Amino acid sequence: MSVAALLGAISAVGADGRRGGFSRHGFDSADMELRAWFTEEAARRGLAVETDRNGALWAWWGEPGDDAVVTGSHLDSVPGGGAYDGPLGVAAALVAVDLLRERGFTPNRPLAVTVFPEEEGGRFGLACLGSRLMTGAVGTAAALRLSDPDGVTLADALASAGLDPAHVGRDERALSRIGVFVELHVEQGRGLVDLDAPVGVAHSILAHGRWRLRFTGEGNHAGATLMADRRDPMVPAAGLVLAARRAATAIAGSRATVGRIVPVPGGTNVIPSTVDLWLDARAGDDLRTRAVVAEIEAAARELAADEGCAVTVTEESYGDAVVFDAALREELSGVLGGVPDLPTGAGHDAGILAAHVPTAMLFVRNPTGVSHAPEEFASDADCEAGARALADVLAHLAR
Ligand SMILES: [Zn+2]
Repeated sequence: MSVAALLGAISAVGADGRRGGFSRHGFDSADMELRAWFTEEAARRGLAVETDRNGALWAWWGEPGDDAVVTGSHLDSVPGGGAYDGPLGVAAALVAVDLLRERGFTPNRPLAVTVFPEEEGGRFGLACLGSRLMTGAVGTAAALRLSDPDGVTLADALASAGLDPAHVGRDERALSRIGVFVELHVEQGRGLVDLDAPVGVAHSILAHGRWRLRFTGEGNHAGATLMADRRDPMVPAAGLVLAARRAATAIAGSRATVGRIVPVPGGTNVIPSTVDLWLDARAGDDLRTRAVVAEIEAAARELAADEGCAVTVTEESYGDAVVFDAALREELSGVLGGVPDLPTGAGHDAGILAAHVPTAMLFVRNPTGVSHAPEEFASDADCEAGARALADVLAHLAR
């Protein structure tokens, strides 16, 4: 079965008629359908599927065991996301198993295909939730308290999915099983297009994090309140969007994005009482990321004061820059005939795992360069090239 056929089989699951693309979030109905699809595809290949303490799926080729070669990605999406971010790595892993069998290959180490839950943080707000839980990068109690926009906590969602919230947390057993982790992913940029290469190896990931800024003013009537009498938190929030643009433009290689603003109560004829705004900031290293955020925070305080409003800033997540294991990078590039290695601005479970186990990533060319949007794309031929590359890498690692 081809990668395209596998992705085609799930092309209706979580399709978002309003935003376009897909909305598939950790343990929601679309995600549960995808998890069932994965379990079925694994079973069709004779792979035994386990669910670990944190809700990650593991499909084992042969006996589960330590020091395994593990590959996989995620099946959830951002709201209105593309078809490839996540599912490409899972489908390519299943096809790679098929290819290895066709080649008559038998692994000399345990080999598993994994699916990490809630990688995008699209439901509970914390990206790479599954890998953060597995590695202890987020505390159990704090994670279980995370809630979705409807007020459903992670603990509730796990219980609804048949998982026991009491077992959530750092998983030494799962970690000790990963001898090496390789995640294949659609490229989220145009690096491979410019290099005219279908497949590459990841070099590094930017330092990145999410911050919530809450501006508090005075809710009031849009008609009866004179302009001079207002303490409107939407005004500093609006200024903050521009301040973020200025701050990131001033520091080389950094990015700052405000992709989500929630005014309360959110009425057309109502001055909001509070405005929550989420900042995503990234840069090549910790120092520059912190500098961008410090600049934006200072602007937030000044903008709030000018309007007679208050502001609080809460760091919701942070990850330092990741440079993938140099020896492994070089080795895999060599196995693939000297494919290029390139940096990315996007976070991944592989980036979280890299602090604990030897980790690498393969990227597949994305001709649009667009990701986290319906226009994200990879040609069928490049998807197959990715699966073949992954098969070559797995065969090398499990030889
Ligand atoms: Zn992804």
